[in-house]
Amino acid sequence: MELSYVQTTCPYCGTGCSFNLVVKDGKVVGTAPYQRSPVNEGKVCPKGLYSHEFINSPDRLTTPLIKKDGKFVEATWDEALKLIAEKFKTFKPDECAVLSSARVSNEDNYAMMKFARGVFKTRHIDHCARLCHASTVAGLANIFGSGAMTNSILDIAQSKCVFVIGSNTFENHPLIGRKIMTAKANGAKVIYVDPRKTPTGKQADLFLQFYSGTDVCLLNGLMQEIIKNGWENKEFIEKRCNGYEDLKSEVMKPDYSLENVSTVTGVPVEDLKTAAEWYAKSGATAILYSMGITQHTTGVDNVKSCGNLQMLTGNLGRPGTGVNALRGQNNVQGACDMGALPVVYTAYQKVIDPAAHKKFEDAWGFPDGIAEGKNGYEVTVMMDVLTDKPGELKCMYIMGENPMISDPDLTHVEHALKSLDFLVCQDIFMNETSVLADVVLPATCFAEKDGTQTSTERRVQMWRKAQDPPGEARLDWQIIADIAKAMGYEKQFAWKSAEEIFTEMASLTPSYAGMNYERLNKPEALHWPCPTKEHPGTPILHGEKFGMPDGKGLMTAISFKYQTERPDAEYPFLLTTGRCIWHWHTGTMTRRSENLEREEPTGWVEINPEDAKALGIRNGEMIKAISRRGEIQITARVTDTIKKGVMFIPFHFVECAANMLTINALDPIAKIPESKACAVKVEKIQGA
Ligand code: SF4
Repeated sequence: MELSYVQTTCPYCGTGCSFNLVVKDGKVVGTAPYQRSPVNEGKVCPKGLYSHEFINSPDRLTTPLIKKDGKFVEATWDEALKLIAEKFKTFKPDECAVLSSARVSNEDNYAMMKFARGVFKTRHIDHCARLCHASTVAGLANIFGSGAMTNSILDIAQSKCVFVIGSNTFENHPLIGRKIMTAKANGAKVIYVDPRKTPTGKQADLFLQFYSGTDVCLLNGLMQEIIKNGWENKEFIEKRCNGYEDLKSEVMKPDYSLENVSTVTGVPVEDLKTAAEWYAKSGATAILYSMGITQHTTGVDNVKSCGNLQMLTGNLGRPGTGVNALRGQNNVQGACDMGALPVVYTAYQKVIDPAAHKKFEDAWGFPDGIAEGKNGYEVTVMMDVLTDKPGELKCMYIMGENPMISDPDLTHVEHALKSLDFLVCQDIFMNETSVLADVVLPATCFAEKDGTQTSTERRVQMWRKAQDPPGEARLDWQIIADIAKAMGYEKQFAWKSAEEIFTEMASLTPSYAGMNYERLNKPEALHWPCPTKEHPGTPILHGEKFGMPDGKGLMTAISFKYQTERPDAEYPFLLTTGRCIWHWHTGTMTRRSENLEREEPTGWVEINPEDAKALGIRNGEMIKAISRRGEIQITARVTDTIKKGVMFIPFHFVECAANMLTINALDPIAKIPESKACAVKVEKIQGA
């Protein structure tokens, strides 16, 4: 039997690499390079290389499952759809909530958004962007008028100074890490700011090992040093920004002298001085950040501080510059663009704007209207409402998400989900969340569907179907449409293909209006905004002006605040969480990949050798990690790559779930949880 090759886009991180799926006898059996993508030029990281391994796992869900007497029983689609439609109709609109997904396509997300607002008529729709880059969306929109990565992946290679803060790029966005290395080979300085000397840190010219949560203090300190030396870009500030005097009055406070900043952050004064000089004088400095910046109760402040530093030094709107938020999941940018958020329709058209509300209501044509034009609950708030206000939320429909591993304080999340009257989960595998459901629906993975996803750099690329779904599994958008039709909304969900959904979506979405499948069906695809059919797309934002009403960026005075829970006598260590190169998020896909699971079969806690010695803990020893929320047993990894007093746990692993320990404290604006900083203690296991 001959092999065939189907070009598609990686289902894992937000880089958006392309490769071929290798198909034999109608089944995907491997991956092969696709050389023509400008993003990755035929290269992939291990996750991309082995991305075929979970597709035909025997664990795939193949039939609908209905829970009867506490056990799942196989059901027909007709039975499942009838039950779901009957139950969904019993709830009032705002008793229902929807979690859409950063893993599925734009078309699936658009369908879910339309379902939430048009069928449930609920305001409460969100997805896991809340847990990763909600601070970016809110922070950058507030200062630049657009909440997305400003530049493209390709032009990182043109930077003269790459400042990476709170991103382990080499492990979590490896093909973006490759662009950093190209910049370095061309003479750029690489500055790395993180609590851990990760593989990214090992390639840096300057490593600032700071305490998690002290980002604003460090960034304000760099800005003070830049202003003191007259290195700020006066022309850029004058012509293109508002708010400079406010910013200056804050950052010039004695609190941000380099001596004070050094005390708070743990970074030597000389290194701070060097960083400020390299940063300001390079001519083209790019900031790259990820969840080390965003997952804090000061996440929005951290994001705005990155923007302040780039405006101060005039590093925006040109190749090699920009505020480059590296988004974690393959389509987290797209899920936000599609309006899978409680405050916007597609392209960030506000639900509280009567004109936007009317536009969607008129276009969709639901005879009984759509959800009222008021903001809804974020996923983190939904969980709090479920536990704190019994009876307010009663029903939830979750597509492709696993909050029972991904969300903070898992005991709290379990309590919340168990208090629902009715829970429907739609996924490709049974996971820690779907076991709690009343009905589980079998969905399709990236290799079984056509569609689009939008990478971290706003590049909208295609998925292409390579094999049929297993058993009776159905396309996500098709399942949503089937439920809607069973509830009486035939006309509004009459799509016959993903392309028809894209066409409808683009007609309502200004930044995608010039896109169609024909234009996207080429290696370089298109970056949004692409407002007309003739528009070439926009790899770099803010070239001439910002997206603010007066076209100017807004510099903002941000004062430093510590995280919610600091180490103390009882819980003396600062815990930070993150990911590793071999696994992705809650592990549902990568842990079913033989090659990836073999590399990293379980989690670990990183402990500095001095701390380990004081505690009498040996490398490889099983210990207890304990916070005020819970405890786990986990293997100690004693390493000098982590700062003394700090510990790190990757969050992928259910058997030692980091989120048993994390705190459900939220940024007041973005409602993102503080996954990057809480207090823990560790103990030896007696008798071990
Ligand atoms: Fe996939 Fe990201 Fe790896 Fe590229 S870098 S192959 S998109 S996981």
